[in-house]
Amino acid sequence: MTWEQRWHPLREEWVIVAAHRQDRPWIGETVDRESTALPDYLLDCYFCPGNIRISGARNENYTSTFVFDNDHPCVGADAPSQLETPVGIFKNSAASGVARIVCYSPRHNLTLAELDVTEIEKLLTVWQEQYVELGNRNGINHVLIFENKGDVVGVSNPHPHCQIYATNFIFKSIENEARVSQKHLAETGRVLFQDIIAAELEDGRRIIFENDTAVAFLPYFARYAYETYVAPRRSHASVATMTSDEIRGFAEALKNLLVRLDNLWRMSFPYVLALHQAPTDGVRYDGFHFHIEIHPPLRRPNLLKYLAGPEIGGGNFLSDTAPEEKAAELRSQSDTHYKTVMSDK
Ligand SMILES: [Zn+2]
Ligand SMILES: [Zn+2]
Repeated sequence: MTWEQRWHPLREEWVIVAAHRQDRPWIGETVDRESTALPDYLLDCYFCPGNIRISGARNENYTSTFVFDNDHPCVGADAPSQLETPVGIFKNSAASGVARIVCYSPRHNLTLAELDVTEIEKLLTVWQEQYVELGNRNGINHVLIFENKGDVVGVSNPHPHCQIYATNFIFKSIENEARVSQKHLAETGRVLFQDIIAAELEDGRRIIFENDTAVAFLPYFARYAYETYVAPRRSHASVATMTSDEIRGFAEALKNLLVRLDNLWRMSFPYVLALHQAPTDGVRYDGFHFHIEIHPPLRRPNLLKYLAGPEIGGGNFLSDTAPEEKAAELRSQSDTHYKTVMSDK
């Protein structure tokens, strides 16, 4: 039985772990297990090679990754800059920035978990280029790279892709991490995320995979049942400064983790994946340690984690599962993707 509060050092908040409740009766909405197999090319997909997008632009006949400006940007150069001044204490600001899409592969049906390590390495170098190019622009103070995967997180196009929001503001989670990391560095002389990795390695129960340069784990303070992190062993404020060896090791760790998640219930595992990188506002962030966070919304094959009273009403997460048990489930999975095994037979 795990029934306690755990401190989340990156968010500076408590997570309530109440794993004794997980078998309580539940009648709730379910998520369809596996939709019908997708073809590797779709004539009416806006992201497939050679197709015409909603903006009228035609995609290149690309052969690996493909980057283009989002046709439905949340932030963009066309956002109004002359704004009505609100009354009283309210304030506003232009929703300026750059929004882009990165298709992982020309294949409509090939998810990140199914790319081979070399293809994930290539993707990481694209992320390096995008972070540097966009982060160096005037008025871009942060580059958020993320992937929404699966119907349950509201994906509009199933063609595997991630998104980039390069913005004039710094997203809240990053602002928090940057602040607590700088504070920890000033107080202890150490990088906060290095202390987290060291504690995870010392405990060992939540480590999913490690190699010479990277480590994948389900953190002690996870808010979601299968929340998992991938990080380089050496500290880098962003993906941009990682060496080719580190990129290789990171790609291997990310692939290994994603395959285990898919294998868990033999389904393409839905998640929100985000690169946490230092802001690009010109300040030095020596305490920041680049990592990827994966937040899967499912607690069981057909059961979503609902955000309710504690999370929305109160602002702290309640977790029904013990991180050690969830990590053990992932550790016990094969690191060969179930689809590969099926196609070999
Ligand atoms: Zn497509
Ligand atoms: Zn983070």
